[in-house]
Amino acid sequence: MKSIEELIDTYNDFPKKGIEFKDVLGISKDPKIFKELILKMSSSQIIKNADAIISIDARGFIFGSAISLQASKPMIVARKPGKLPGELLEKKYNLEYGENSLSIQKEALNKFNSYAIVDDLLATGGTINCVTKILESNNKEVVGILVVVELMKLEGRLKLKYPIESAITF
Ligand code: AMP
Repeated sequence: MKSIEELIDTYNDFPKKGIEFKDVLGISKDPKIFKELILKMSSSQIIKNADAIISIDARGFIFGSAISLQASKPMIVARKPGKLPGELLEKKYNLEYGENSLSIQKEALNKFNSYAIVDDLLATGGTINCVTKILESNNKEVVGILVVVELMKLEGRLKLKYPIESAITF
């Protein structure tokens, strides 16, 4: 059986020169390993202690929704511009390769008090930091952060003052 690491292909210079892109989409092509990963992430104390999961556009949705089903926890989403209807809470952030912003539906965020943040990958930490800032400014509790991959040399975790669990590190 392959390991999770073997399912993650690396693409050099994508989407920009100098970026070593880790493609997590290989994981969902192997249901057995995908399931093992989801069972492990779902059993985290961070998930257990949160009222709800907040997963991040777009690859975070793959893992966040599977964890939500497995752990029977509600899931809401943080999305890139122009994707969500209704009244939004929005914040800009810097990426390893550019700038973007994330929005959360106000009505969805108001439903729960404490959140576990789920994304596919932690690089510089700008994306997840943006979500923590939206949560903090709306008086919501961040229980912790779960990612499939953490790129250690980018030191994203230094930006984040919450517990972080990563399934794989590079
Ligand atoms: P960051 O805000 O720098 O932590 O970037 C995290 C977000 O950008 C994640 O949602 C990833 O999908 C994406 N990302 C950033 N760097 C990479 C990379 N080297 N390989 C794959 N995805 C990346």
